[in-house]
Amino acid sequence: MVFEGLAKKLQGALDKLKSKGKLSEKDVDVAMREVKLALLEADVNFRVVKKFVSTVKERSIGQEVMGSLTPAQQVIKIVNEELTNLMGGTESKIEFSSNPPTIIMMCGLQGAGKTTTAGKLGGLLKKKGKFPLLVACDIYRPAAIKQLEVVGSKLEIPVFSMGDKQNPVNIAKAAIEHGKKNGNDVIIIDTAGRLHIDEELMEELENIKQEVNPNEILLVVDAMTGQDAVTVAENFNEKLNVNGVVLTKLDGDARGGAALSIRAVTDKPIKFVGMGEKLDQLETFHPDRMASRILG
Ligand code: GDP
Repeated sequence: MVFEGLAKKLQGALDKLKSKGKLSEKDVDVAMREVKLALLEADVNFRVVKKFVSTVKERSIGQEVMGSLTPAQQVIKIVNEELTNLMGGTESKIEFSSNPPTIIMMCGLQGAGKTTTAGKLGGLLKKKGKFPLLVACDIYRPAAIKQLEVVGSKLEIPVFSMGDKQNPVNIAKAAIEHGKKNGNDVIIIDTAGRLHIDEELMEELENIKQEVNPNEILLVVDAMTGQDAVTVAENFNEKLNVNGVVLTKLDGDARGGAALSIRAVTDKPIKFVGMGEKLDQLETFHPDRMASRILG
């Protein structure tokens, strides 16, 4: 499970504090050095770790903590609060348009889980009473259209496609017209991915963005790729100014660095997390619950 290694190490470092009645500045220093190492080993961005540790340290050697009857508990509380802050503080929801349909554009690199997540998100919204339409705009990967159709039929969500001979911008525009006529209140556009970020892909995504003016651009990144996921997020965000991130494969043995770095590095929230291959395994991301899970 993600964060397993980090959780063990952080808990170990903080448990040592619990065995001391009163804390000295040196005790906090030693613990923070261990916290720092644990975060770096979990592949959290170096700058993020430095800032995190210095914030926790500063707060921990404050009057209230050192003078309190349970200083170790206070330090743990601070670590919990700062982990929560690092991941965005509170959950970040989808902004629905007051004038439906709400248009959601999914983007990301090939293999990140974009098509699966487009379907999962449709399923989640359908359960909440929405009437989504999935749109197949990935015309390059041979099986992508078929894959979205299979996902749609499993979830009983309609899929709009025009084959692979049309320009994705035209497909997206036609899909929105179609959706409006059919009363779809959410339109989820699955765009093309590539193995690496390239100009052509970005240009295509920028064109779609310009033409359809989405309410939400969600970037799908693979948690297993660690700091690469953070770099991908930085790059996509720079070009597209995304609204949020979906972090997939958090059910795997990712070390957790992406989850803890993306918000701080890009200033964009993680909105959902993928917790498995099954189509109902997409969850709203709750920073506070994730922090509590890390601290046990
Ligand atoms: P795309 O190329 O970005 O559209 O990626 P796909 O949607 O085809 O997904 C790539 C692979 O990742 C597939 O085998 C998915 O089943 C798998 N996948 C997607 N999301 C998750 C997740 O949250 N957990 C796990 N374990 N696998 C996932």
